[in-house]
Amino acid sequence: MTVEFQVQGVRVSELARRYGTPLFVYDGTVLRDRFHGLRDRLHPAMEIFYSLKANPNISICALLHSFGARAEVSSLVELTTALRAGVPPQQVIFLGPGKSRQELAACLDTGIHAVVCESIPEVALVDELARERGVRAQVALRVNPRFAVKRSGLAMGGKPRQFGIDEEELFGQTDLVKRFPDVDVMGVQVYMGTRILHEAVIVENTTRILDLAERLAAALHLELRMVDVGGGLGVSYFDGESDLDAQVLTDGLNPVIEDFTARHPGTRLIMELGRYLTAEAGTYVMGVRYTKTSMGERFAVADGGTHHHMAAVGIGSFVKRNFPMAVLNRLDELPTEEWNITGPLCTPGDTIGKKVPLPPVRPGDLIGVHRSGAYGPTASPGLFLSHGYPAEVLVHEGRCHLVRERDSPDDLLQRQRLYDPTAHDAADVPH
Ligand SMILES: *Cc1c(COP(=O)(O)O)cnc(C)c1O
Repeated sequence: MTVEFQVQGVRVSELARRYGTPLFVYDGTVLRDRFHGLRDRLHPAMEIFYSLKANPNISICALLHSFGARAEVSSLVELTTALRAGVPPQQVIFLGPGKSRQELAACLDTGIHAVVCESIPEVALVDELARERGVRAQVALRVNPRFAVKRSGLAMGGKPRQFGIDEEELFGQTDLVKRFPDVDVMGVQVYMGTRILHEAVIVENTTRILDLAERLAAALHLELRMVDVGGGLGVSYFDGESDLDAQVLTDGLNPVIEDFTARHPGTRLIMELGRYLTAEAGTYVMGVRYTKTSMGERFAVADGGTHHHMAAVGIGSFVKRNFPMAVLNRLDELPTEEWNITGPLCTPGDTIGKKVPLPPVRPGDLIGVHRSGAYGPTASPGLFLSHGYPAEVLVHEGRCHLVRERDSPDDLLQRQRLYDPTAHDAADVPH
């Protein structure tokens, strides 16, 4: 009997039959376990905000919110998604280096907990928008700290960056509160980097960020009502990596949090997590269209690829490393061969797996990329070769929910216009 990959008892071949491939499948139980695995151990004063950037699907946001997650958003659509998913405005923060006037206005009009400002000119614009509305804007300052994170996949602080305001500069802004009377500067945010897989590094970052927030509040005479310590908690994808241990992590973090809350009982503490909450819950399922060999190497040409899962392809990484992959419809067969798994795009870069140990692959097989619930289609060039967005299915409490329809050719073409050589735009100069 062949063993198939299942999500809550639903076989992968059944999912592929019902929804087609390529397909993202999310397991609601894994999402819940990821959230609660941390929430139930973490000091209760530390709130967990879900970074929609990792997976902006409204149902993923709603499900995480039902477990207790709040929302961290970085665009007008992410803000709208979080609110429509049922997250109350007081549980939403908005950050990002290039917010538009419209986005900042929406922050003020919806009454979210805080706008995290990333430059002094942005604070000035928020001040102006607040004055126009007759409200006081709740603002946290994103700091680009002097210190850099060690052993992070992608460091954000401690070097010249478009993110946040340099620590040195901020300590000189002692008249900030007076200069912007319609802004209530009440918080500090620092995001050190992503994909951190060492508990001690996260504990050290958090300690330093809380200390920085205290010093900054004292220097600028701020009433510190919020500190967002970022996060950057990673998940393991590659050989030689191992996952964070939530118990070890919280054993290190909780005393630091306890210490801080003892001194600042009214301060809201926030941790922003994307990948850590969603990556493990997702599987990218591709159908194999053709198999062939080229110069002695085996190729399985699948219907999915870079346009949905750039992270697994590893574009932008120095070396190509494979995400965990399997032939999902024959899990019991041993890997005896090496296969290159490629997609439908006309570029050699569209290689999802290089020399992946797999059992013999056949057309019609379903190949899965595990740990694919974060930075999938949202972070991929989905319009390349006009393939568009794949379908997304959430399995929760034994039921399948189509949470994103696959783009159809009409979806992809509807905003293009076939020009009419006899017509001209009203703004054109007539000739
Ligand atoms: C990307 C980002 C996150 C989420 O990062 P993960 O690695 O997915 O947890 C959180 N905060 C900020 C400021 C970010 O830029």
